[in-house]
Amino acid sequence: MIMASRIIEVKDLVKNYGKLEAVKGISFDVYEGEIFGLLGPNGAGKSTTLEIMETLREKTSGKVKIANLDLDSHPGEIKQLIGVQLQQSGFYPHLNLLELIDLFAGLYNVSVNPLELLRSVHLEDKAKSISKTLSGGQRQRFSIATTLIHRPKIVFLDEPTTGLDPQARHNLWDLVKKIRAQGSTVIITTHYMDEAEQLCDRIAIMDEGKIVELDSPGKMIDNLVASGFQRARELKPASLEDVFIQLTGKDMRDE
Ligand code: ADP
Repeated sequence: MIMASRIIEVKDLVKNYGKLEAVKGISFDVYEGEIFGLLGPNGAGKSTTLEIMETLREKTSGKVKIANLDLDSHPGEIKQLIGVQLQQSGFYPHLNLLELIDLFAGLYNVSVNPLELLRSVHLEDKAKSISKTLSGGQRQRFSIATTLIHRPKIVFLDEPTTGLDPQARHNLWDLVKKIRAQGSTVIITTHYMDEAEQLCDRIAIMDEGKIVELDSPGKMIDNLVASGFQRARELKPASLEDVFIQLTGKDMRDE
C-alpha cells in the first residue's frame, strides 16, 4: 500500500481564551486526499481548531503545518492553498451569482469560468439570481463553489449541511465526494453522525478541548462493539431516512 502524504500536521495545539482552555494540546495529522471529520459536542473546540488551521485565529502554542508550510512563518502561502467556506453574510446582496464569482476570482487573482463552476454545483439555472433568493441547499452549494474558485488543495467545510432537508443533504454529500475526487483534501465538521459515517475516511472526536478518539468510522464502531457494547434494540437493515429518500427521490428539490 502506498502511504498517503501528510497534508496537515498539528502538534500539541493549545488555545486559551483568557482563563478558558478551549483547545488543550491536541495532535493529529490529515492525509492528502482524505475527507477528515472533526466531531464533538458544542464547545468542544472544533471551530477554534478549524479557524487556527485556516489562519483566521491566533493559537496560544503548538505547531501547525499545512502542506509542509509552517503556519507561523507562511500564513500567506497557506491562505492560497486552502478554501474556506464563507458565511452567507459575506455575500454582497445586490450581485448575482456570476458577478459574485467574478468578484471572488478577482480577489484571488485567478481566472475562472463562472458558469462552469456554477454547473459543477448544479446552480447554472441560478446564475443571474442574487444570493438572497437561494434556498438553504442552494446557498450552501454556492458557498462551497466560492471555496473552489482558486482550486485549493484543502477545503474546509464548517457544518455545511446543518438545517438542510434530506435531499439537499444527500446532494451535498455527493458534492463533497466530487471535490475529493477532483484531488482536494476535505476537512469537515458536522453534528450528524450518519453524515460522518457516510463521508469521512477518518474522524477526530473532540470533547472539552481534547481529542478523545481518532480513527476511521468503521474502526471506531468495531472497537465499541469489541468492548462489549450492545444496542438496546436490533436495528433494521434500512433507516427511516432510506424510506424517505426512496419515496421522494434524491433529485434537487430546492428550487
Ligand atoms: P465548537 O466549535 O466545538 O462548538 P468552539 O471552538 O467554538 O467549540 O469553542 C470552544 C470553547 O471556547 C467554548 O467554551 C467557547 O465558548 C469558547 N470560545 C470560542 N470562541 C471564543 C472567543 N472568541 N472568546 C472567548 N471564548 C471563546
